[in-house]
Amino acid sequence: MAADLEGGCACGAMRYRLASRPMFVNCCHCRDCQRQTGSAFVLNALIEADRVVLLSGNAEASAVPTPSGKPQEIYRCPSCRVALWSVYGGAQKLRFVRVGTLDTPQALPPDAHIYVRSKLSWVMLPDYVPAFEAYYDARKLWPYESLERRRTIFGEAPVTLK
Ligand SMILES: [Zn+2]
Ligand SMILES: [Zn+2]
Repeated sequence: MAADLEGGCACGAMRYRLASRPMFVNCCHCRDCQRQTGSAFVLNALIEADRVVLLSGNAEASAVPTPSGKPQEIYRCPSCRVALWSVYGGAQKLRFVRVGTLDTPQALPPDAHIYVRSKLSWVMLPDYVPAFEAYYDARKLWPYESLERRRTIFGEAPVTLK
C-alpha cells in the first residue's frame, strides 16, 4: 500500500511518501482552488505533516491571498514550481496534499465534495459521495478514527478545514 502513496513534482527533484492513508480527502470546487490549479477542482488529502515523508528535495512556500484573510501557503518544488501541498491558516501540523501529485492518484478518491455552489456545470458528481454547497461539520462526517487523529494534532479546539 505504501508504494501507492508515493508522489512527486514534474521534474523529479521532489519526492515524498505518505506514511499512512490521510484522515480525509476533500474535492474542492471553490473559485480559489479553480484559479490556483487552473482546473475545475482540486483534490486535497488531509494528513498530519509528520506523515508526509520527504524522500528528496525541499518544498518552498509561497503565500497566496484568500478572501477570508487567513493565509494560505502553497508548497512547491523549487525547480519546476509544481504545487505539492498547502497549509491553511498557519496550521503547520496539517497538510493538504495534492492528490494529483501521487504516482497513483486513483488510490485516494474523494470522501466529500465541497463548495459545489461554484462547481462547473459539466462536472457530474456521483450519488454515493456526500456533496456540500460550502463546507461541512467534520464532527458529523469524518470517521471516528480520523477525528481522533485530528484531535491528536490540534487538541479539542475547533479548527476550520477548507
Ligand atoms: Zn520539480
Ligand atoms: Zn477550494
